Amino acid sequence: MRVLLLFFCILSISFACAQDGSSVNIKKIVIDAGHGGKDPGTISPGGKYKEKDITLSVALKLGDLIKSKYPYIEVIYTRETDIAVALDKRTEIANKSKADLFISIHVNGVSSRSPSGSETFVMGADKSNSNFQVSMLENNVILLEGDDYQTRYEGFNPNDPESYIIFTLLQNAHLEQSLIMASLVQKYFNQGPIKINRGIKQAPFLVLWKTSMPSVLIELGFISNTRDLNILIDKKSHNQLASLILSAFEEYKNQYDKGYNNLDYVTPIEETQKQAQQKEQTQQTVKTTSANNKTLTANIHYRVQILSVSKLIPSDAPDLKGEQNVQYLKKGSLIKYTLGEFQTKEEANAALIPIRKKFPQAFIIKVKGNTIIN
Ligand SMILES: [Zn+2]
Repeated sequence: MRVLLLFFCILSISFACAQDGSSVNIKKIVIDAGHGGKDPGTISPGGKYKEKDITLSVALKLGDLIKSKYPYIEVIYTRETDIAVALDKRTEIANKSKADLFISIHVNGVSSRSPSGSETFVMGADKSNSNFQVSMLENNVILLEGDDYQTRYEGFNPNDPESYIIFTLLQNAHLEQSLIMASLVQKYFNQGPIKINRGIKQAPFLVLWKTSMPSVLIELGFISNTRDLNILIDKKSHNQLASLILSAFEEYKNQYDKGYNNLDYVTPIEETQKQAQQKEQTQQTVKTTSANNKTLTANIHYRVQILSVSKLIPSDAPDLKGEQNVQYLKKGSLIKYTLGEFQTKEEANAALIPIRKKFPQAFIIKVKGNTIIN
């Protein structure tokens, strides 16, 4: 009887472990087709083609591709038909579903006919360049969402540059992983059909503002440029664009599922200068947020990164979810909060599983002394 009992104990423990193991993987993705219904988005110079139709077509194709390649991944759309969905509603859909990744699909449009190419954005507060114009244009849609938009978006007025000050308080917990996904999208977009690559950028997009998962906004190309437009209205190109985003997702997912962040991601152009300035600090600074200032391992070791932010945050910040033994490391312009120190990657992997229950986007980093090694 005892032997039998022991057998069932072991069986249930291994079953629980197997369940835990699978919980590391990406399970849900939200695909957001920009605009819809009364909000056409940008419109082609002749007025014939609308952004909302292109984004919906590419979004649905991307969802189909992900579902057929990964039947166990739940694909959630913010819209599947030509309907208007408020920006805050889109974010709410993503947050309520506790998705692991948010991909918003858009098409650019400007008054000049010459700009062309694709670019992928992550949320950021930078308003000092032309990126700001793109986000202003995309944020303008809230003016169509009814008179209460200022209440719903915390007093925000998309046409008032001063309004964008609210974003300066932003702590983007998922900036780093958003940057990785964004850089992968742009990497695969190099294969065409729209070959001009405008890179990855940061700008304050309302739809990305409050998402609680890594999130990117892809501008496929320019509806205002004849060459881009011819591609954007071709259904075959929609398949191509969707499968390139799928390739980016696959590479992102492989890294994410392994729990190991060793992607050599491209740094946004506007960040490069800041990073150069901060290079010196980068090499040195390591501190603990807990009072006991424990000594760090000098040799190569592994830690679980739970959060990446652009400014130091207090040890009782909600983003740290009450964790007491948090440490941080600086790399470039980012501050990375970590848990634990492990001699082997296997030990770190074992620790990652329970940590991801609390911090779903956590992953393992390799550290030597005070420096993160890619
Ligand atoms: Zn748009």
